[in-house]
This record gives sequence, C-alpha cells and structure tokens, in this order.
Amino acid sequence: MNYFLGLDLGGTTVKGGLLDQDGHIIAKSEIPTGAGRPCGQVAADIAEQGKKLIDGAGVPADCVRAAGICSPGTINTEKGEVVFSGNLGWHCAPISGELEKCLGIPVFLGNDANVAALGEARYGSGRNYRDSILITLGTGVGGGIIMGGRIFEGGRSAGAEIGHMAIVCGGEPCTCGRRGCFEAYASATALIGQARAAMSAPGGADSLMWKLCGGDPDAVCGKTVTDAVTAGDKTAEQVWDRYLDYLAEGTANLINIFRPEAVLYGGGVSKAGSLLLDRLVPKFEGLIFGGNDYAHVDFGIAALGNDAGICGAAAMAMDHTGVL
Ligand SMILES: [Zn+2]
Repeated sequence: MNYFLGLDLGGTTVKGGLLDQDGHIIAKSEIPTGAGRPCGQVAADIAEQGKKLIDGAGVPADCVRAAGICSPGTINTEKGEVVFSGNLGWHCAPISGELEKCLGIPVFLGNDANVAALGEARYGSGRNYRDSILITLGTGVGGGIIMGGRIFEGGRSAGAEIGHMAIVCGGEPCTCGRRGCFEAYASATALIGQARAAMSAPGGADSLMWKLCGGDPDAVCGKTVTDAVTAGDKTAEQVWDRYLDYLAEGTANLINIFRPEAVLYGGGVSKAGSLLLDRLVPKFEGLIFGGNDYAHVDFGIAALGNDAGICGAAAMAMDHTGVL
C-alpha cells in the first residue's frame, strides 16, 4: 500500500492528513500556522506535523510516496512557490522546496480553492463525475473547476477565480477592487448584507430575522435568513429568493462556459441543503444554454467539509507521482 500526505495550509491553522492510495484518511491533525513567520520556519513545523502523523499511524516511512499542500494566495504550481499571500504574509515563498528538504519526499503545491475542488471531485460529492465545479459560499466565493478529473487552473495557475466574474456591470464593490463580482452578491457576507438591508427597509421591521438575531443586526448570519425562511417569514423569503437569483446567474455563466456534469456547493451557506437546491435549481430554466436535457448538469452539496483540502492535496500528490 502507498500513502500520501495531504496538507492544508491556512492563515490560522495547518490541517494535515495521511491518506492511503484509496483515499481513506488514516490520521489527521491540526497545528497553528504562526502566520507572518518566514516560509522555512513554517515548513519545519509542517514537516514535523507530517512525521508525527506517519509515526503515529505506524506506517513505514518509505511507503509514503509524496505530499501535496494547498495554500491561499497566488500560487506558482510549477515552481512550488507561493507568489503572494496576504494571509501568510509571504512573497515568493518556496514552500514545496522547503518541505522537500525536511520530509525527503516530493511535494506538490496548489491553490487552496482548486485543491478543495479536486478533493470533492475525487472523494466527495463529485466522485461520480469527470467534470465538476465546486462553488464555495463563505466569506467570499471560491471554488475550483475540475475537467477530466484534473484541476483547470488557467495560465500560470492564476485563473479559475470564479468569485471575480462580474454578474452586474458597475454593481456592488468587491474586495478585489472590481465592481459587480459574483462574490459581492453570492457570498455568505453578501447574503448577510442583503438581509440587514431588508430588515432596515420599509416593511422589514416586523421580520422574524430581528427576533432571531436578538435585535442586533451585527448578529445576523446566513442561518438567520434560512431559519426565518423555514419559519415562513416574508422578508427573509424575499432576501433568500433574490440571493438565489444571483447565485443562479453566476452558476449559469460557469455552466455555459465549462458545461460540467455537476455543480457542487460548499461553504457555510451550503448547509441550507435542500432549502438551497430545491429553490435554486428551477431558476436555471432559461439560463443554461440549450437547456438542461442534452449534456445534463446535476446539482449537489459538497460532502467533505473541512477535509476537502487535505483530501485534494493528497489526490494531487497521487496524480503527480503516478505510482498507482
Ligand atoms: Zn471581485
């Protein structure tokens, strides 16, 4: 049996997993990133974490073939370098090389959103499809495009930024500096903003959302909206319906370009489950080019949650080594 390390480097924590060649997680752990330190120091800690996972699982070290690591920011996958990451405070950080020195096995680097999409495609809700797109609805809108079982990352691994496709020309400002981005309308942050606006607008004063947030607009979260929708609150219904209109527009753009076999939703808002899918899917009527009969697209909810990164990173390492 061959084993692979899957490492998910974030601004706060590093999640590590040891997976066998069938994609089963044998062991996992989490350590603080200590962001802001030089790449070499962080790599030394991650290598230590990896070695502990291998020792703890009782797996012979020479059966661990390679490691995959995913990172936020702009990534040069070819060089194994984090070109820039605000979260990590890094500029041109050769993380793969540093890890290879400590671990003594090949290390492959990918962008966190792309790698999570690969994990979901290989071992999660996308496992029955060759072409899938993961759309993560969290603080921002992230995700990745998997075509023919491989990550589609665009030129110099800098593309596939699906959250920064505009769906409204000259619309809401986005964190990236552009206006009208998908992210500015379909992230959890955007949903919360849309809910607060509706609560303060005429007719919003008697919304159940006020009660659910304890009268404090700062306490509104995505669940405030979906809970109120479930309870039949009219204002929340309007907010949710409009939010799903935006989500449908952005998703349909991706479908019309890439025509995947499946679109999967992850992130906090996806926890709404059927309340999301059942109301979203009918909205694609008339948006999907040529309709949804020929080259049918399925819609689903991501299954791996926080493990998507480690699973995808290990899958990336497996693909690169080709030992299977
Ligand atoms: Zn943007």
